[in-house]
Amino acid sequence: MSTESTLRIVWIYPDLLSTYGDRGNMLILGRRAAQRGIPVETYEVRSDQAMPTTADIYLIGGGEDGPQALAAQRLIADGGLHRAVHQGAAVLAVCAGYQLFGRSFFAKGAQCAGLDLMDLYSDRGETRAVGEVRGDIDPRLGLPPLTGFENHGGRTHLGPGVAPLARVTAGIGNDSQTEGAWHGKILGTYAHGPALARNPAIADLLLRWAIGADSLQPLDDTWADRLRGERLAAAGAA
Ligand code: GLN
Repeated sequence: MSTESTLRIVWIYPDLLSTYGDRGNMLILGRRAAQRGIPVETYEVRSDQAMPTTADIYLIGGGEDGPQALAAQRLIADGGLHRAVHQGAAVLAVCAGYQLFGRSFFAKGAQCAGLDLMDLYSDRGETRAVGEVRGDIDPRLGLPPLTGFENHGGRTHLGPGVAPLARVTAGIGNDSQTEGAWHGKILGTYAHGPALARNPAIADLLLRWAIGADSLQPLDDTWADRLRGERLAAAGAA
């Protein structure tokens, strides 16, 4: 049983949406919370289980079209994630998970209903976007550049109710111009990697949102910084 001050992190539907090491995002968040002495509990909620409504951070990952469409149907029918978001939970939604946070997305030859929790929709791209993605994150978030690996067929179109997470400097992201989206405490991105292993500052942003802190004790991010430097240099040289 968790206490009031325990940070609760839910990984949504690992049985359906877990390509490219999405578990890593949960591990990174849990570890970075624990290193600051923040009590933390992580929960893996499968698609045949009810979605808890009172966790602090929800993570949803990437997936192929079939599991993506199924995940959206189940999340809409369950309703728990909607309640959690409306109560102010923080969210990191990656690729298929990001697309299904919008109004609709393209999967298995048709537009499918999304959760309508972000003002965006996704349709089919002319080509598949595969490779490194990089971008300068919205300065209001105060984060270093985003780096990640993308692999998606869809393209995402943002409405006025969300801001782009980043301006693309390499790769495709939403549409070759912008990458990902954010609104309130919800972040969406095409970056796998897993994203939080490669961008620990985003993990800390989610933690700060969840616990309501302006700053967190700094950690030694030498390895993540080295990887980021390597990928930025490789992208620059390409
Ligand atoms: N099925 C979606 C697409 O191809 C998402 C892919 C993914 O999550 N990697 O656009």
